[in-house]
Amino acid sequence: MTKLNGKTALVTGASRGIGAGIAKRLAADGASVAITYTKGADAAAAVVKEIEQAGGKAIAIQADAADAKAAVAAVEKTVAAFGRLDILVNNAGTAIPKPFEETTLEDMNRVIDINLRGVFVTTQAALKHLPDGGRIITIGSSVGERVMTPGLVAYSATKGAVKMFSQGLAREVGPRGITVNTVQPGPIDTDLNPAAGDWATPQIATTSLKRYGRVDDIAAMVAFVAGPEASYITGANLTVDGGTNA
Ligand code: NDP
Repeated sequence: MTKLNGKTALVTGASRGIGAGIAKRLAADGASVAITYTKGADAAAAVVKEIEQAGGKAIAIQADAADAKAAVAAVEKTVAAFGRLDILVNNAGTAIPKPFEETTLEDMNRVIDINLRGVFVTTQAALKHLPDGGRIITIGSSVGERVMTPGLVAYSATKGAVKMFSQGLAREVGPRGITVNTVQPGPIDTDLNPAAGDWATPQIATTSLKRYGRVDDIAAMVAFVAGPEASYITGANLTVDGGTNA
């Protein structure tokens, strides 16, 4: 598949999990891909190697989404490496699951800084480079619309916020043909949310399909939204959650 030939994508937080799956899929579709990470230099290098071995182009950039300067620098490094930026995927995110009354100000700041502030800063930097027809895709969460399990108050607040961020921004950049969408995963088997264990059981129960999803389920939706067939989809919240919010 080569529908993204000649395009460049930046995927934040893509050394593991959903981001790594998205990066590999966009590369398979023909895009040159930059990925960011914080600590996992070896894992990020392995993603780059896998893309290169499959005939694609990729680079890894260390950039904490909570660090505004690093986030902006990641955008600039992507453009310096590949000469353009067409697709931004705001994927970097974290959760600190615990009851709200035990959630510290530090916990709240952390999830806001990565999940929301990081999206603001990275998107603003990317918009300086995105051409007409560019794509901004943010990984929200099914809990940005409905929360089925306790312990996710701060996290779900940030995911609800990025949903409205996308809707608001869609109105501003639509005249340039730039689309802005949120992809909202349900439970997806990653290090952040493993499909086995005590925390998984209530999440499986809330899905209609009675199972976790895979990273590739999210990558497929992102690839579609990034591609030419999705040019009339903007301001949308595209939920891929096994029917959790059905
Ligand atoms: P993982 O924790 O499995 O992977 C996170 C990735 O992001 C790693 O590559 C990690 O790199 C990187 N990362 C973490 N913190 C930062 C940061 N501050 N700046 C830049 N990169 C960072 O997460 P998932 O793949 O599960 O989640 C990806 C996104 O999907 C998140 O936005 C999450 O909220 C969302 N999501 C996930 C769901 C799930 O069930 N898994 C459900 C709904 C939404 P490093 O190792 O170097 O830190």
